Amino acid sequence: MAFRYSGKNWEGRAWNTPTSLRSFGVQIDEEYPSRPRTSDGTVASKTHDKVSPSSDHRPRPTSGPGVVRAIDATVTVDQGNTITEALRQSKDKRIKYVIWNRRSFSPPDWTWRNYSGAPHDKHLHLSLWPTQDANDDLWQLGVDDMVWSKIGDPIGDKEDCKAVHAYQGEKVLRVQDVEALFDADRTTILTVSRLTDLLMELDLRKANR
Ligand SMILES: [Zn+2]
Repeated sequence: MAFRYSGKNWEGRAWNTPTSLRSFGVQIDEEYPSRPRTSDGTVASKTHDKVSPSSDHRPRPTSGPGVVRAIDATVTVDQGNTITEALRQSKDKRIKYVIWNRRSFSPPDWTWRNYSGAPHDKHLHLSLWPTQDANDDLWQLGVDDMVWSKIGDPIGDKEDCKAVHAYQGEKVLRVQDVEALFDADRTTILTVSRLTDLLMELDLRKANR
């Protein structure tokens, strides 16, 4: 089941997610395609709001249309360790805090601390700062041979990569033919904007149906 990125919550309030959360969801789906999905989630249920009214899974503000700035991604222990450590080392300025397997970290010190709440041993939790809603930088999720590039940016010399993706705002494009990224003499690196017709668009709106 795909992540939901907008809709109506249990109160009937319209909710949405920022670019920074959507890119995380799309990237983790692409980079870890075989991960479990049972605890995936964005917007809070009625029960969750009752138990954790201050959670970032609750659309803010708490009346009228709101924005959800937290995501739960189901992972194996190995995947969770890899992803959260990559996030921690990235010191990504969008991160408010991360919880994984009885530990959490947050800026400004980015050190692991014991977390005494729900164990979070089947899914990692990521909360985002509201000031970073429009930040469409690419997340560091621990998979090195998968290239993510903003549309128009050089892709870089990655001949051994498994897949290349182009990303901008709500559009994530998968480049299907990696060889096509290189000129015949393999010296000139093309930019994604020149390869648009080779890309496949992943339409995020489909996730909301
Ligand atoms: Zn959560």
